[in-house]
Order: sequence, then C-alpha cells, then structure tokens
Amino acid sequence: MEVIKSNKFWLQQWSSDLIGLLFPDLCNACGISLFQNEHLICTKCLYDLPYTDYHIHQENRVAKQLWGRLPITAAMAMLYFRKGAKIQNLIHNLKYNNKT
Ligand SMILES: [Zn+2]
Repeated sequence: MEVIKSNKFWLQQWSSDLIGLLFPDLCNACGISLFQNEHLICTKCLYDLPYTDYHIHQENRVAKQLWGRLPITAAMAMLYFRKGAKIQNLIHNLKYNNKT
C-alpha cells in the first residue's frame, strides 16, 4: 500500500513538472519563469517593488492632491508608478489579464 502511495506522489510530481516545463508560469512583472515556490511575481521583482510608505504618513502626496476636492479622511498609494517600469506590467496584467 505504501509503494502505491509513493508511486502516486512521484507520478503527480512528474506530471506537474512536465506541465510546468511546457507551460511555465511567468513573472507578471518581468516575464521570467517562476520557481515552484513563487506565485505571480518572482522574488527579485517582489523585492524591488517601489513601495511608497504613504500608509505611515497621513499627509502624503496622494492625500494632499485630494484635499478639498473629495470628502475623504485618508488616501494613499501603495506603490510608485513609472511608465515603462515593471509596475506598469503588473497593473496591466491586473486590469486586463485577471492576475490579481
Ligand atoms: Zn520578475
């Protein structure tokens, strides 16, 4: 019985590896193949994301742009946006390819 479970595990692992070889999951930011423990974005891109830290500062640039225009109590942006940067690829894939 134990041999059957072991063979079943290896067969599942082998078929998963084969599918990954033929249809690799790609990083949504840079397009390289993801490792088995990565999901949607590679570790390098995840590490390089341009975080704003606006959530720490209530009087941040986004909030100041909206003051007097909308009845809001707080506003922030999680990441800096730069056209042509990896963040643009992430937003595009979020909006048009359902990569949440
Ligand atoms: Zn990447």
